[in-house]
Amino acid sequence: MSQVPLNDLSRSVVEHRTELDEAVRTVLDSGWFVHGPQHDAFERELAAVTGSAHAIGVGNGTDALELALRAVMPAGRSVVLTAANAGGYTTTAARRGGFSVRYADVDEQTHCLSADSVAPLLSAEIGVVVVTHLYGRLAPDVQEIVARCHDRGIAVLEDCAQSIGARNDDGPAGSFGDVSSFSFYPTKNLGALGDGGAVCTSDEALADRIRALSQYGWDGKYRITLTGGANSRLDEIQAAILRVRLKHIDAWNAARRAIIGRYAAAASARVRVLPAADAGHVGHLAVVVADDREALRLHLNAAGIRHDVHYPVPDHRQDAFADDFREVTLPITESLAERILSVPCFPELTDDEIERVCDALAAF
Ligand SMILES: *Cc1c(COP(=O)(O)O)cnc(C)c1O
Repeated sequence: MSQVPLNDLSRSVVEHRTELDEAVRTVLDSGWFVHGPQHDAFERELAAVTGSAHAIGVGNGTDALELALRAVMPAGRSVVLTAANAGGYTTTAARRGGFSVRYADVDEQTHCLSADSVAPLLSAEIGVVVVTHLYGRLAPDVQEIVARCHDRGIAVLEDCAQSIGARNDDGPAGSFGDVSSFSFYPTKNLGALGDGGAVCTSDEALADRIRALSQYGWDGKYRITLTGGANSRLDEIQAAILRVRLKHIDAWNAARRAIIGRYAAAASARVRVLPAADAGHVGHLAVVVADDREALRLHLNAAGIRHDVHYPVPDHRQDAFADDFREVTLPITESLAERILSVPCFPELTDDEIERVCDALAAF
């Protein structure tokens, strides 16, 4: 029996091969390989999509988080507050930046931080709250969280690695906090053919700081005016590829949303499909919650449907960090980590493959 893959990046490359070849050829012919015209054009186009005045291309999404945290952390503060169910990227970036991390529990329905979970934990040491728009879903409370944080001089970083294009009536993901981060890892909704990332903001001084930090802390060539600088650039070939792909993002996001809609309509009462019903969700992952996850895994294996868990180990329970968090319990985060399962969701899934997943979810 053929398998329904969790993802298959080659399908999109085959479909758009002519455009991609042309983009790469343009860069090869130009003789610019770093910070050239493709990069600058992509930054402008991305800024528009994210409702931000500035976009800064960087090497990957984890660098984007780290550079944004370094640039936005208020003087005299050093603590980052975030969720523990988002794959550890913020924790890794914060620790690399020399900051300590605290966690708020997530909302049982949306798996995102909520104003109710965050507000009681806001204190004078916390400098930045990182809101992750998880699985493609714009955190419904993001604006309320920003308001509560700003009342206390706390900055908000939106991690939009999974949510490019998600929006509510007031704007797109990335337009609500002080600064936002993006990843163009190949499996993301907007994927490069290699690594890439970006930071977006509408604050010009902050944008200047992030731009400097992404190149050694330079003010201009060979003049280092900021400490904590890195070399983290989005290269010209990836920028050209991302410009091609950005044109398709709305159609791809709609296709992902439609797939999740079909799963939600088909699933048996023993699995809850996290809904992706409106523009506030771009269907990065199709995640289901099942009390008997092990049985569901076996059932999907038998049907030839690939699956994975995003993410199996909450940040505060990761071996590398756990010593710092022995006293911390996050009941909802910990319980969801035992019950979540991701099933195939990418725009090039065929109708037959989607039907097979629907049938398997229905038969469980
Ligand atoms: C993928 C991802 C990142 C990290 O991006 P990389 O480009 O792999 O470094 C950060 N946050 C979230 C939520 C992600 O899904």
